[in-house]
Amino acid sequence: MSGHLGDLSSDQLQALNELKAHVGTEHPTDEATLLRFLRARSFKVEAAKKQYINQCKWRKENDVDNILNQPPPLDKEMMAIISLGYHKHDRDGRPVYVELTGKIDANKLMELPLSEIMKRHIWHNEKQFRRAEELSKQFGKNIETTTQIHDMTGLNFSHRKCLSIFKHVSKIDQDVYPERVGRVIFVNVPWLFPLLWKIASPLLDPNTREKFVVLGGNEIHKLLDYVEPENLPEIFGGVCKCPGGCMHIVPGHLLYVALPSVCSYLIACCFSGFKNTDIKFRVLWQPEKASQPESIIPLEHVTLESAEGHFAATANGKLIIEFDNSTSTWLSKGIKYRINVDHGS
Ligand SMILES: [Zn+2]
Repeated sequence: MSGHLGDLSSDQLQALNELKAHVGTEHPTDEATLLRFLRARSFKVEAAKKQYINQCKWRKENDVDNILNQPPPLDKEMMAIISLGYHKHDRDGRPVYVELTGKIDANKLMELPLSEIMKRHIWHNEKQFRRAEELSKQFGKNIETTTQIHDMTGLNFSHRKCLSIFKHVSKIDQDVYPERVGRVIFVNVPWLFPLLWKIASPLLDPNTREKFVVLGGNEIHKLLDYVEPENLPEIFGGVCKCPGGCMHIVPGHLLYVALPSVCSYLIACCFSGFKNTDIKFRVLWQPEKASQPESIIPLEHVTLESAEGHFAATANGKLIIEFDNSTSTWLSKGIKYRINVDHGS
């Protein structure tokens, strides 16, 4: 028996009834919440009761029930360094959060006060669980967990500093948000990822760790096993195009440029800043009616410091200009590009 609502053994049901009797009058709540605390404590009633009551006190002391009435803490600062989105839901109905984690400027993040970062994390959790409640109503089933997708492109050794934040975040998640992780998916993981993960993963409890999925650079299509294409942003391999963009992108974070729906256009591109960079580059053309893009310039290491080129589109389609930094040993890269699109010339 999984220990979820509707799937309880007689012992689990007895534990639920005992916990309900213990906390019922002082801290009333729903059975699904009590079951989360019981599962987190292997259905040991006393331990679950202690954790649940501590959580109630913590919520009260920090006025967590009202946190979403306030703007998210550090919003200006965080939006300048983190590309993120609260984007639709996965195949199980869980709210999805997407983030270009590998692109976060670790030095700037570490300059921010930890107490405010933690407040923002709590705000983020509460927002995700509010979305889960709304999706529960929409799909007519109990959705109490969330899905996170982290693009690790750009991860480098400077991110090791952020492990201290990860430590605080995972502690609070385990103490007051037990059994809330549905799935955490890392995509485009570079070679450095296993080293950092070896340090980070022992901070998680084994049940939570099982919910982590790691996908390499050529496995991003596997995200479609978890999220329908129409609910997944294009940069993660889906087909969603939300008006105004699927997510907030920090200028300069996205080294993937797609020019949509061009017809009989001459597209001229000019790039510079490649010197000593170890970047791979390619150009693809995706005609609107074709299922697979055509290769215009194959993926290869850039050897020139700068380059210019043009392409004449003869039908509707999308030109995809891709910079690949996944072989980078240490650093994120800075490049400049300019794209001109001339209709009919
Ligand atoms: Zn979208």
